Amino acid sequence: SNHHQNRDKEVNIQVVLRCRPLNDDEQRSNIPQVISCNEVRREVSVLQSVANKQVDRIFSFDKVFGPKAQQRSIYEQAIAPIVNEVLEGFNCTVFAYGQTGTGKTYTMEGGMKNKGKDLPAEAGVIPRAVRQIFDTLEEQNADYSMKVTFLELYNEEITDLLAQEDQSRSVEEKQKKPISLLEDGKGAVVVRGLEEEAVYSLNEIYTLLERGSAKRRTADTLLNKRSSRSHSVFSITLHIKESSVGDEELIKCGKLNLVDLAGSENISRSGAREARAREAGEINKSLLTLGRVINALVEHSAHIPYRDSKLTRLLRDSLGGKTKTCVIATISPSVNCLEETLSTLDYAHRAK
Ligand code: ADP
Ligand code: MG
Repeated sequence: SNHHQNRDKEVNIQVVLRCRPLNDDEQRSNIPQVISCNEVRREVSVLQSVANKQVDRIFSFDKVFGPKAQQRSIYEQAIAPIVNEVLEGFNCTVFAYGQTGTGKTYTMEGGMKNKGKDLPAEAGVIPRAVRQIFDTLEEQNADYSMKVTFLELYNEEITDLLAQEDQSRSVEEKQKKPISLLEDGKGAVVVRGLEEEAVYSLNEIYTLLERGSAKRRTADTLLNKRSSRSHSVFSITLHIKESSVGDEELIKCGKLNLVDLAGSENISRSGAREARAREAGEINKSLLTLGRVINALVEHSAHIPYRDSKLTRLLRDSLGGKTKTCVIATISPSVNCLEETLSTLDYAHRAK
C-alpha cells in the first residue's frame, strides 16, 4: 500500500541513551561520576581530563534518560510507539547496546517478580510490550494470536532458550538439535527447529523469561562469561484477523524483536585489546556486522551487509526498509567505565 511505500526513504532508526545510577558499592566507595544527562536538551556530557585539563564532550541523541528515569517512562516515551507499529502489521526491533553491567538486561527484562495482575515498577520492555499488545487487542475485541520465541546467539550459533529438556534423548542428540535459519522466498525469515509458544496471558511471559534466564545462567557457569558474549533475541509474532471481505479473510502480521546484545566491550575499538581478542577468536562478528548494517541503513547505502552475520540474517525482515528500530544505548556514570562509555557513545551516536 501507499502507506508502506512512503516510508521507504525515511530512516526509521531511533537512538536513545540511558545512564544507570551508581550502585550501592560504587556509592559507598564514593566513585566519581563523569556523566551528566540533560533530558530536555537530549544531551549527555562526559567529563574528561585531557592533558591535565577538564573538558566536557557532548553527545546528542533522539532521547536521553538519566539515572533517575523509571522503566515506565522509558517504555512510554521510546517503545510504545514502536509497539503500535507492530500492531499495525510492521516488523520492528529494539536493541539494548552497551558495556556489560550497564543495564541492558534490566532495561529489556527488568525485575522478574510478578505478583498479581499489575506489572511491578521494575518491569522492563518485554513484559510491558506484551501488556500493551494484550490491552490494545482485547480493547478492540480483536481475533488474534500471539506467539513468542526466545533464542540465544553465541559464537554464530543459535540455542533455543525455550526448548524443554527431553529426558528420553541422549546427550549427543540433545546437543545436535539442529536449528537453521531460512528465508521463505517472500522476504520473511524463518528459524526452523525453534520452540514457538502461544501466549494467552501476561503472567505466562514471566514463566518464559524465567525459563530462558535459567538456561542462560546454566550455560554461563559452564563457560565463563558466555552471557556477556552472547545475544538474546525475544521475538513476538502477532496474527490479527481483519474484517473479512466476502470469503477472503485478511490476516495482519506483525513481529517485534527485543534484543539484549552482547557486551559492547567485545568490540571495543581500543587497539591492543582488539588484537588480543582477535587472536583468541573473540571478536563478535554479529555485533560488528550489526554496526555496519545500521550505518549502511542510515547512509542509504546500496548494499546492506545483512548476510555477513547470523544476527543480521535473523533480523533481516525486521531491520531497515519499512520497519522501525530503536537502539537503547546503556552506560554507567562511573569514572572507572570512562573508556567504554566513550566508545558506546561514539558507536550509538554514529547510528543516528
Ligand atoms: P547488563 O545486562 O548490561 O550486563 P544488568 O542489566 O545485568 O547489566 O545490570 C547490572 C546491575 O545493575 C543489575 O543488578 C541491575 O539490576 C542494575 N541496574 C541496571 N540498570 C539499572 C537502573 N537503571 N536502575 C537500577 N538498577 C539498575
Ligand atoms: Mg545482561
